[in-house]
Amino acid sequence: MTPVGEVLRSHVLQSGWPGPRLVVLGGVHGDETCGTVAIERVRTALETGRLQLRRGELSLVPVANPLARQHGRREGERNLNRSFQPDPQPADHEARITNLLCPLLARHDVLLDLHSFQSAGAPFAMIGPRDNAGALEPFARAFEEGQLALHLGTGCVVEAWLEVYAARLARCGQGGDARALAFGWGTNEYMRSQGGYAVTLECGQHLDPAAPEVAYRAILAALALLGMAGSTPVPPAHPRLLRLVDVVDRQAEGDRLVHAWTSFDAVRQGQTIGLRADGQAVVAPCDGAIVFPNAEALPGSEWFYFAVDSERRLDAPGPTPAP
Ligand SMILES: [Zn+2]
Repeated sequence: MTPVGEVLRSHVLQSGWPGPRLVVLGGVHGDETCGTVAIERVRTALETGRLQLRRGELSLVPVANPLARQHGRREGERNLNRSFQPDPQPADHEARITNLLCPLLARHDVLLDLHSFQSAGAPFAMIGPRDNAGALEPFARAFEEGQLALHLGTGCVVEAWLEVYAARLARCGQGGDARALAFGWGTNEYMRSQGGYAVTLECGQHLDPAAPEVAYRAILAALALLGMAGSTPVPPAHPRLLRLVDVVDRQAEGDRLVHAWTSFDAVRQGQTIGLRADGQAVVAPCDGAIVFPNAEALPGSEWFYFAVDSERRLDAPGPTPAP
């Protein structure tokens, strides 16, 4: 018998009218509960008729990683948001769940993936690459993806995660390693590979009581923008747009950040961000901002990301210039 913690629950609402197919994920990381709360709230609103699905199809997955949620921690056996591709020989819980989620995602057009984060800070959205025909992450729906990000209402949007991840591999001498690159794939990268588009919304700190409200409003905003339910969409926000340009790994237990950085803290070129165990300073390569600092990162994993202001326009269709 499948243990309770391994059962994936999803809810499909079909309008019967043609329209966009939206899937919303909560709890990809088990200790991130805001998405689950928001999804259940939307589900109740739809099931009681307070909110009506006018067209298209909506799938809701309140807890994408049931084992991690059962344990109240980020991961079950590993990070579900890595190596997110079907695996004919699934070796762990997350691989089995990925095999269930991939076909679900693939039959939708749009993914909204709801997360929260460890350190203090304001909500932000993450989007993928600009339209391109390159080998790393070819994409043709950057405008639609940008529109969705703008309507989620955060003060900040971050672009280009996979590019920085690939650059990190190249630095480690693993640039041509397809397996290592595939490890960098999360839900969003898989969704884009299937012809859809995807936005990850980081709704706030894990236990911030405002985070479920951020997530709830985001689902409603997505439904309204796509013309699926609710009133006319709220006007797009004008967030700060940042492009990730570097990721720095924590190398040893003795490595420490010199401040309790929060995402989007500004740093000047040459400013010390952290100190290696041997006392060597890790400094900002140029003026920019720190993103996703994790003071407790395991040695060998991402310590913080570095971003600069992006010149990309999310509100203008057509090709956006390459960085
Ligand atoms: Zn997360």
